Amino acid sequence: MGVPFYNFAKLHHHEFNIKVKERINAIIDKNAFVEGEYNASFEKRFGELQKAKFCPLVANGTDALELALRAYDVGHGDKVGVPGISFFASAEAVLTVGATPVFIDVNPATGLMCAESLKRIVESHKLKAIMPVHIYGLPAPIAELEKVCTPLGIKIVEDAAQGQGGYLEAGKPIGSSNNLTTFSFYPTKNLSAFGDAGAILTQDEKLNEKIVQLRNHGRSPNGHALSGHNSRCDHIQAAVLDLKLDEIEQNNNGRRNAARLYNEKLKGLPINFPADKYLELSSWHLYPIQVKDKAEKLELEKFLKSKEIGCAMFYIQSLPEERPLQNCEGEKENAINFAARTICLPMNPFISKEDVTEVVTVLKEFYNK
Ligand SMILES: *Cc1c(COP(=O)(O)O)cnc(C)c1O
Repeated sequence: MGVPFYNFAKLHHHEFNIKVKERINAIIDKNAFVEGEYNASFEKRFGELQKAKFCPLVANGTDALELALRAYDVGHGDKVGVPGISFFASAEAVLTVGATPVFIDVNPATGLMCAESLKRIVESHKLKAIMPVHIYGLPAPIAELEKVCTPLGIKIVEDAAQGQGGYLEAGKPIGSSNNLTTFSFYPTKNLSAFGDAGAILTQDEKLNEKIVQLRNHGRSPNGHALSGHNSRCDHIQAAVLDLKLDEIEQNNNGRRNAARLYNEKLKGLPINFPADKYLELSSWHLYPIQVKDKAEKLELEKFLKSKEIGCAMFYIQSLPEERPLQNCEGEKENAINFAARTICLPMNPFISKEDVTEVVTVLKEFYNK
């Protein structure tokens, strides 16, 4: 038996494979390798899905963060507030543009950036921007964070690498805010390419124009307007993404159904799991649970693996514990504690009711319940 963490065989099913190979063959025949018709199609359709006016594709999710920061003129000498729970790339992008990350602590129940911590940090640090992360697909409290940032002129870059198809609140998809929102389409994300790709969503025509220049060496109709990057998205990746967009809603429904079952069946066990209010909002990229402490987490990991239940440490440690970030200032306590206690259970669009039952049975065995 056993339950796998990912399921690429079902994601790339026979019919999809036939269609995607037709598209790739046509691209090879036409020698149309960079920024082709599928880039334009995907940018329009994904923008519509997430309710953003503009959706420039870029080369990957890390570039998307860097270019979004650059679009807001974040650079040397600037401070950017980042949460202590994320993938390393969030803080790395801040360092790459020459700015300094300052840690905003996370909500101990969710790992999402905490507005109360932000209120304290802005008293002692002049932040140019913050980068809330919709980690695991759970929406960060953007409205609360905006209340702190807007009066102070602090820009917001939302890292939605894990949030395709998710909602900030009912009726408001991730990407529909007035902030810059970045996505990654790395192969393991909810919407994924056959390699690297990313996008930046915005409602602002001027910012869109600047990002479109930045991703292509700063090129403008009359020469180079600024010094940019090479962060164009390959046509083949856009063609794959455009085809997979047909299935994102159905796939996210599969994830949501699995999350609902987990939430029902895990009640009564001594673990913390995402609150029911997230069932309709999260993209359910991952299903994180928190156990008592680090020792219990490591024991549980061993036990799950022995029963062939896919599980993963997202993240092995918090960002403030990573060597290149250990000198960064800010509030870190909840993040360190959260990372020590968090482990992710199998989550993908194809998890069945039987799979969830099996995972929960193994958890009950672990806790002797
Ligand atoms: C995947 C991911 C990124 C980086 O995206 P890449 O496409 O791998 O560069 C950034 N932030 C978060 C939260 C991610 O999960």
